[in-house]
Amino acid sequence: MEKVGQKTWRGILVYLEWEGEAFHPVSYELLSEARRLSKISKEPVYAVGIGKEIHQGVSLLKNCGAQKVILCQTSQIYQSEEYARIFEMYIRRLCPGTVLMGGTMEGRALAPRLAVRFRTGLTADCTKLEMEEDGCLVQIRPAFGGNLMAKIVTETARPQFATVRPGVMEREEFPGEICQFQLDTENGTEGRMKVLTEEVLDQGDHITDARLLVVAGRGVKKREDLELLRKLAESLGGRLASSRALVEKGWMQPKDQIGLSGNTVHPDYMFTFGVSGTVQFMAGMRNTHHIVAVNTDPEARIFQIAHDPICADLYEVVPKLLRQGGIC
Ligand SMILES: Cc1cc2nc3c(=O)[nH]c(=O)nc-3n(C[C@H](O)[C@H](O)[C@H](O)COP(=O)(O)OP(=O)(O)OC[C@H]3O[C@@H](n4cnc5c(N)ncnc54)[C@H](O)[C@@H]3O)c2cc1C
Repeated sequence: MEKVGQKTWRGILVYLEWEGEAFHPVSYELLSEARRLSKISKEPVYAVGIGKEIHQGVSLLKNCGAQKVILCQTSQIYQSEEYARIFEMYIRRLCPGTVLMGGTMEGRALAPRLAVRFRTGLTADCTKLEMEEDGCLVQIRPAFGGNLMAKIVTETARPQFATVRPGVMEREEFPGEICQFQLDTENGTEGRMKVLTEEVLDQGDHITDARLLVVAGRGVKKREDLELLRKLAESLGGRLASSRALVEKGWMQPKDQIGLSGNTVHPDYMFTFGVSGTVQFMAGMRNTHHIVAVNTDPEARIFQIAHDPICADLYEVVPKLLRQGGIC
């Protein structure tokens, strides 16, 4: 077992997720969070990125907040086994006390593999992180279906692995700071898999990037009725999203779901229709700037956080709004 030892395992390492031409936004959010945490434990912040053509990313990491960045160029695009092997090598070299990774497809595939290799703990989908002066990371996340917040620490092993979903932490810039870059090329084996063709699928806009969201909940009675809300979203220049209730019905896609087991969003404006406001839903939208909620139940929980609570039937409100050409 890799024992706790502050002298050996020190520093906060962020995994930079390379998307071909840019880093995933969660990489910057984690770097900012690492900097905030490092102020308490007085540790250095490192960043490691692995990917094809990743050397192009140097200019994108100015003011990123890390003291040292290592970019490792590979001949192949992302593969879990191969990238886990390379990242493990850098973790062993840098010996960080903490490793932060995005709660993305890539992070979710890599983090458990690495935690097993180091025989240490991993807390997935943290919603808050706290640091103690001795470098002990307090990993906070909803537990028991979101009904309580668990504080998790890794007492007897290092590094401490944590994943955080995109949009949960705030991004900051650290202008004028000197960052040391190291550019490597991976010349090792090419792994057991070989990529024969590469195709980038058009994933369209994502709700996590939208500045305005219209959100449909179980109050929507028929699948066809979603078209009214989609029209409203379009007329307002936003996107349609939903609670899990409609994803479970198969009316909306998991990528459109807000909440604990969905996406964390932080739009400027959110209009909810027939959403009750369960803790699991609200776990994904607390940072919304302005919330307008339409619900027939005056006791609906969503009204506790809505800036404009409207106690009304969505089937009366939505057509009126569409006739007016949106919300003024
Ligand atoms: C581990 C776990 C993870 C979960 N993760 C998520 C998650 O990520 N996201 C998520 O959303 N849920 C999640 N859930 C499910 C969650 O508990 C709720 O089931 C879900 O959020 C309910 O969605 P809703 O608000 O649309 O439906 P409901 O709670 O059923 O609310 C429907 C609302 O519509 C109102 N209404 C009805 N008719 C009308 C009308 N005509 N006009 C206006 N209002 C009307 C009702 O008054 C009611 O308040 C999770 C649950 C668990 C256990």
